[in-house]
Amino acid sequence: MNILLIGSGGRENALAWKLAQSSRVKELYIAAGNPGTAEYGENLEFDESNQEALLEFALKEKIDITVVGPEAPLAAGIVDLFEEHGLNVFGPKKAAARLESSKAFSKELMYKYGIPTAEYKSFTEAAEAKAYIEEKGAPIVVKASGLAAGKGVIVAQTVEEAVEAVETIMLNDKFGEAGEKVVVEEFLEGEEATILAFCDGRTVVPMIPSQDHKPAYDGGKGPNTGGMGAYAPAPVVTDGIMEEFKREIMKPTLEALQSEGLDFKGIIYFGLMIKNQKAKVLEYNVRFGDPEAQVVLPLLETDLVAIMEAVLKEELDQVEIKWKNQKALCVVMASGGYPVEYEKGKEITGIKEAETGEDIIVFQAGTKMEAGKLLTDGGRVIAVTALGDSFKEVIDKAYAGVAKIHFKDFHIRNDIGYKALTK
Ligand code: ATP
Repeated sequence: MNILLIGSGGRENALAWKLAQSSRVKELYIAAGNPGTAEYGENLEFDESNQEALLEFALKEKIDITVVGPEAPLAAGIVDLFEEHGLNVFGPKKAAARLESSKAFSKELMYKYGIPTAEYKSFTEAAEAKAYIEEKGAPIVVKASGLAAGKGVIVAQTVEEAVEAVETIMLNDKFGEAGEKVVVEEFLEGEEATILAFCDGRTVVPMIPSQDHKPAYDGGKGPNTGGMGAYAPAPVVTDGIMEEFKREIMKPTLEALQSEGLDFKGIIYFGLMIKNQKAKVLEYNVRFGDPEAQVVLPLLETDLVAIMEAVLKEELDQVEIKWKNQKALCVVMASGGYPVEYEKGKEITGIKEAETGEDIIVFQAGTKMEAGKLLTDGGRVIAVTALGDSFKEVIDKAYAGVAKIHFKDFHIRNDIGYKALTK
């Protein structure tokens, strides 16, 4: 079968790596992909924002399944468009993608269906939001309701900071439409974890839990990033928490989608905060997380294409999803200065030297090939994923891989996975 994968980051490199292992795949195309995805399929010249070109290509090349990596095309309705033309897409339609594209919508849904989450209120008037903040006090969390690529969330330590956040989001044009509504939310303490799940609209099946490292610097300090590294399975999600998650969060979420008439075929990402053996939902996403995909997919034993086919046929309950009995960890190498300001165009060396065996995989994100040289082309540049039997082993292997790769001014966190060692 012919597959079209949309996206160009590390998540899509991990997806391309996994999809290409399927004997069911004849052609794999990636739009626009990156030099890493080009090892597993053919990169196209247009990207995720060009829906018309994607549609024309999918019809012409008789694409059997389109896999949408990032959230923006889902929120823009690519699934609706493709389905109108009789094409199969792995991903939710626009209405269901609001689970991620509107925090006001997702919070309302959680409240309506009794899904545990932080107390909140949403506002379209800045003055009302400020009054609510003053009433509640700090710490408190202010979020732009719409998509803001992870930059629309301010965890404020003081009332002043929270009020300023409301002004930045609502009164500046920086956030555009995404900032017309703000969600003001109770600050939750605890440890974060991610549980991704396959969903065909009738059945939802969780993947192994993982943990991202969002802050830029060691010890969880500095500004939030897209994610500086991840590991799986995350020990913070004990068997007890997993059972409770399935009962109190995952199943009610599926029932909520069904009751609201939202057909969901794709991935539900549950961002959780865990404290005292209880999980609450911080956010939903409607696609694989990045970097979580870079540790979860390498541990997936089952053919991903077979799972996707089952999802599209609403036969997910017929597939046995198997996982390797191993650990996976990835360390992101970012451009110096990321997530604020950084330069691009630095030459990258050492990837082949780092990939010493099947248990070390280098996934590319912000890279480009120019005149035969691999250059940096974004904030998060590459990630080194290691597989092994213990967290100690995968930490050592991933950092040994990182030590062989070089580009000028690269930035890494040196403590990826350390939390797992203490559990
Ligand atoms: P991303 O897409 O990058 O995951 P996002 O913009 O969708 O981010 P959230 O996941 O809602 O935003 O929030 C980003 C981060 O802010 C969370 O991972 C968490 O660290 C912190 N955060 C969000 N909500 C809360 C809360 N209620 N209490 C404490 N921390 C929070």
